[in-house]
Amino acid sequence: MFATLSDRLTASLKNLRGKGRLSEADIDATAREIRIALLEADVALPVVKQFVAAVKERARGAEVSGALNPAQQVVKIVHEELVTILGGETRRVRMAKQPPTVIMLAGLQGAGKTTLAAKLALWFKEQGNSPLLVAADLQRPNAVNQLQVNGERAGVKVWAPEPGNGVGDPVAVARGGVEEARRTLHDVVIVDTAGRLGVDADLMQQAADIRDAVDPDEVLFVVDAMIGQDAVNTAQAFLDGVGFDGVVLTKLDGDARGGAALSIRSITGRPIMFASAGEKLTDFDTFHPDRMASRILDMGDVLTLIEQAEKAFDAEQAAKAAAKLTGQGGEFTLDDFLEQMLQLRKMGSLTKIMGMLPGMGQFRDQLANFDEREIDRVQAIIRSMTPAERNDPKMIDGSRRARIARGSGVHVSEVNNLVERFFEARKMMKSLAGGGGIPGMPGIPG
Ligand code: GDP
Repeated sequence: MFATLSDRLTASLKNLRGKGRLSEADIDATAREIRIALLEADVALPVVKQFVAAVKERARGAEVSGALNPAQQVVKIVHEELVTILGGETRRVRMAKQPPTVIMLAGLQGAGKTTLAAKLALWFKEQGNSPLLVAADLQRPNAVNQLQVNGERAGVKVWAPEPGNGVGDPVAVARGGVEEARRTLHDVVIVDTAGRLGVDADLMQQAADIRDAVDPDEVLFVVDAMIGQDAVNTAQAFLDGVGFDGVVLTKLDGDARGGAALSIRSITGRPIMFASAGEKLTDFDTFHPDRMASRILDMGDVLTLIEQAEKAFDAEQAAKAAAKLTGQGGEFTLDDFLEQMLQLRKMGSLTKIMGMLPGMGQFRDQLANFDEREIDRVQAIIRSMTPAERNDPKMIDGSRRARIARGSGVHVSEVNNLVERFFEARKMMKSLAGGGGIPGMPGIPG
């Protein structure tokens, strides 16, 4: 996500480090580099011009103020301007005063709409709502079935065309879906609509008809971030044809240069509300302009990391682990170690997690090559131990190690390695625990 842009921006800002004051030439050179970085990331030209002009103007005044040195001030300015073009404040869904809240999705075929409908439904479910999905995309042959499958995976009910539900008529299906939600007390309705491969008049008319029939609280325009400049043109067409309140970016996990994300808000005046970065239903979240700007500048996204940790880590488990670390809950065992590793896993791929830490941009290649199966191997080894061995790893002698290695299909040296690392980790935890502890943070196998 934004890899090239991020590298180029951080590199050009790094050149300013250590300068006591910035000359006009420094500012010009930096502005030029930022301009190239944005253009290469496929950001729309008017947006680039505005961005660079704003940064330049503010950078000139940078030396007069406060605690930061001029270079740090420029980073701060670039960060603030990025937040601005990404939309400023986080824009949240406006819930209807009188449920159900109706959300209509629009966009081109292949944008990821149907997948997104299920992701959004799951997201609402996790917020404590009771969503209903409505399959009003009757254009693409498999769309209804796909929504049913995804809905089932998300554990969300799907209203689909059937005799009586308006077979063949997307407007009737959509209207029926909202009525069904009202009847059965679903508080959120998500209407998936048809997309074509390109913008066309029929498509726009159908979407407009559905909009008029269901009177949505939010129309969300779903767009594939990988289509670059085209995203802006498509957005404009949908804005004119149907109108929308917010944007959902999909496929941010791809090799997106990021141009769509950075242009769409300025060009359409509509905020990005959600972002999707993967095919799994959970690869989806609220879009936060400030956090995204921090990620682009490799300042990390610690807030998202903490939120994910809170979701994944069971509070009770964490408290138990913390107690053990401070020596109150018995000795830390290999069972605890395994448990913590599994919890960490729940947060998602380690590569993604590590990528959210500040300054990790430089390790992007190593992270991409990190073998997630290493964790599977560690799990297999621990699972091949008897409960007594896990509880008291000191008893794992040579012959036990050989048996464990055979049982888990690894070389004996890997078992040795794990056991030694475990003892080291335990020793380290104990010494840390004396100084306040590191509750809930598992020892990451290296
Ligand atoms: P629709 O035609 O707009 O309904 O698009 P679909 O939901 O069928 O998605 C088109 C393709 O994009 C499918 O293969 C999805 O699995 C894939 N897809 C959707 N969202 C994402 C995403 O965020 N990242 C990636 N990598 N693929 C996605």
